[in-house]
Amino acid sequence: MGEKFLRVNDLHVHFPTDDGLVKAVDGLSFDLEKGTTLGIVGESGSGKSVTSLAIMGLHRHSRARVSGEIWLDDVNLLEIEDEELRSLRGRKMAMIFQDPLSAMHPYYTVGKQLTEAITVHHKVSKADARRTVVDMLGRVGIPNPNRRFDQYPHEFSGGMRQRAMIAMALINDPELLIADEPTTALDVTVQAQILDLMRSLQDEFGSAIIMITHDLGVVAEIADDVLVMYGGKCVEYAELDDAFHQPDHPYTWGLMTSMPRLDRDRQERLVPVAGNPPSLINVPPGCAFHPRCAFREYSPLPCDSVVPELLQSYPKHDSRCHIPVPKRAELFSEQIAPKL
Ligand code: SF4
Repeated sequence: MGEKFLRVNDLHVHFPTDDGLVKAVDGLSFDLEKGTTLGIVGESGSGKSVTSLAIMGLHRHSRARVSGEIWLDDVNLLEIEDEELRSLRGRKMAMIFQDPLSAMHPYYTVGKQLTEAITVHHKVSKADARRTVVDMLGRVGIPNPNRRFDQYPHEFSGGMRQRAMIAMALINDPELLIADEPTTALDVTVQAQILDLMRSLQDEFGSAIIMITHDLGVVAEIADDVLVMYGGKCVEYAELDDAFHQPDHPYTWGLMTSMPRLDRDRQERLVPVAGNPPSLINVPPGCAFHPRCAFREYSPLPCDSVVPELLQSYPKHDSRCHIPVPKRAELFSEQIAPKL
């Protein structure tokens, strides 16, 4: 086992609103080594994107109440000054957003924006910065990078813009890269290319990656560990193979049975988890998943009033459900595995 590079301990991100307190993230803990990828999976509103913004320090100066610890190496990101955080962003940790058009400035050329990403952290000549940027644009698979340098974001296709965002995130060789649904808006072929690209860049730079997604298929492609979030909490956390071969939480089962498969036609593939994600203002009491859970009858405790703890089910495999582990294993192999 390598050294833990990122350690998140008991993270809470709450937003006071006129309608009540939104508990977007409620006691989340995980860690990550260099050169490995953690996939954080969940529906919208599960708290996964709020978690990534908390790591980047992007809730500062907002109404969010953030508590817990986020250690990057030996620095607690929640305790450092704004200036130190700014110097870490881009250089030590960087983020790829879902929508590169809104993350890139429309009035500046792609080359200028990437150049600034370098010069904000390093003293380099204009010519050297340009060389580095053109080289990076080429490495992320953008053809004619020298010409593309002088173009504006709107002149790039969706896939090329996403590559430019990845280039911007990687330009200072960050040790932690957070990618928030980086492939959602892209067609399947470009999606596969972007995931390939991230994998090979990880091999090259040894970065730690957090991949935020609603799509277990993406996680299967790229992650080493998987963390499933529901209602602001982790409900399952395991190594990739375990999570796929012995998923241990009814919500994960729902995600798995709704996962796209190439051998099924499109209509058949779109089977979402029944019901709606919970309101984070009025999180259902007990297990937040109980209104949607088809397995409550197997629980020895009342799911609508007793909150399940996150407990170890197998070595390096935790989950949050009242049903005893052997019974869950039986339910999975009898009722879920045949559908996969
Ligand atoms: Fe379902 Fe109850 Fe387990 Fe929650 S605790 S996942 S409601 S069986």
